Order: sequence, then C-alpha cells, then structure tokens
Amino acid sequence: MKILITAGPTREPWDSIRYLSNRSSGRMGYAIAEAAGTLGHEVTLISGPVALQPPKGVRFLPVTTALEMEKACKRMFSQVDAVIMAAAVADFRPARRVAGKLKKEGSRILSLRLVKNPDILLGLGRRKGSRKLIGFALEAADGLANARGKLRRKNLDFIVLNGPGALEGERASVTVFGRDGSRRDWKSVTKQEIGRRLVALLEAEQEAAGR
Ligand code: C5P
Repeated sequence: MKILITAGPTREPWDSIRYLSNRSSGRMGYAIAEAAGTLGHEVTLISGPVALQPPKGVRFLPVTTALEMEKACKRMFSQVDAVIMAAAVADFRPARRVAGKLKKEGSRILSLRLVKNPDILLGLGRRKGSRKLIGFALEAADGLANARGKLRRKNLDFIVLNGPGALEGERASVTVFGRDGSRRDWKSVTKQEIGRRLVALLEAEQEAAGR
C-alpha cells in the first residue's frame, strides 16, 4: 500500500521569531512510519518540526504550519491508498503575522487574535473515495463519546483515542474505535507496536475490500 502518515506539531508564527505550538514530540507518527516501511509499504511522512530523524526509506516532506501541512496532504492524497493522521495540528493560528520582531517595550499586555486552522482530516474525509483513513483523538475527558463522534464526522475508518500522557512517552495506552463499531484496547504498548497494529488493520481492510 501507499500510506501517507503525518506527525509532529505544527508551528504557527506570530512574528519572525515567535510561534504558537504544542507538546507533540512526533514519536507516534515516526514510529508508525517506521513500522509501515518495515512491513513493506511505500510511506510518505509529512512532519512538523521535531527533533527526530525520519526513518530510512520513507519519502519525507517537512512542513512548519498547519496551512503548509494541509497543502502537502492535499497534494499527496490522490496518490495514496491510506492516511494515518497522527500530527497534532494546531487548531488556531495568529490572525496576523508581524514582519520582523515585535517590540516588547511599551506594552504590558499583548493580545493575540487567533483564527481557526482548517481541519485537514475532515477535508480529506470528504473526498476519501476508497481510501482508508485513520485519525487520532487526544482527549482529557469524555474521550469515548468524543472519539466516536469524530470517527463519524470526519468519515474515518478508525480513530485512535489516547490521553495527554501519550504525548512525549515511549509507550501509550490507546483505544481504537472502528467504523464497524469495533473497539480495541491496547494497554501500555510501544509506539512501534501501535504502528504495526494500525498497519495490520489497514492491511486487513485492504484484503477485505479486494475479496
Ligand atoms: O478534532 P481533533 O483535533 O481532536 O481531531 C484530531 C484528529 O484530526 C487527528 O488525527 C489530527 O491529526 C486531525 N486534525 C487535522 N487538522 C486539524 C486538527 C486536527 O487534521 N486542524
């Protein structure tokens, strides 16, 4: 299969020096990309800025902002069979980017106006065709209901629910909901193992579709 995987945070600059971002390390997406490559799939990894080396053998497309990630995903989408969207896309970006460095002198309070970024996965879900889509949901509370809602709204095949503890660690406990109503609980597994299992789910879907 040709699999598109996204990883890492996005950075949303508000001047030439400063940006808004989140704590995503990129480990989950990179581990999935490595697992998919090892299992013999053709992998494209679109990644926000992280401190990791892309796995060998994957096509690597680095991006910085959510808008750049969206553009790269849209461009690759027609060429792939499946997408695993593990990136922690920033939901908002500063409405205005100041050229140069904003001076701190003279202001005690600074207000940033933010605008919503596009939901990349939602956009892909609307034109998915026969492609398989896996999304992630990081939920602090009401996780189960929210994740199931996202699975439907974003037209996904699977959604991986994890807690904030999964952001930087080597292992994670996740629950995977399928479009068919299935539920899988994977407790304290490595991110590599999560990658292998997700790719196995895609392989099974592909096989079922071919039958
Ligand atoms: O709605 P929520 O942000 O919880 O959804 C998470 C899923 O949607 C993740 O797979 C994430 O990569 C994706 N997403 C996206 N574009 C956004 C926000 C989230 O593709 N702007």
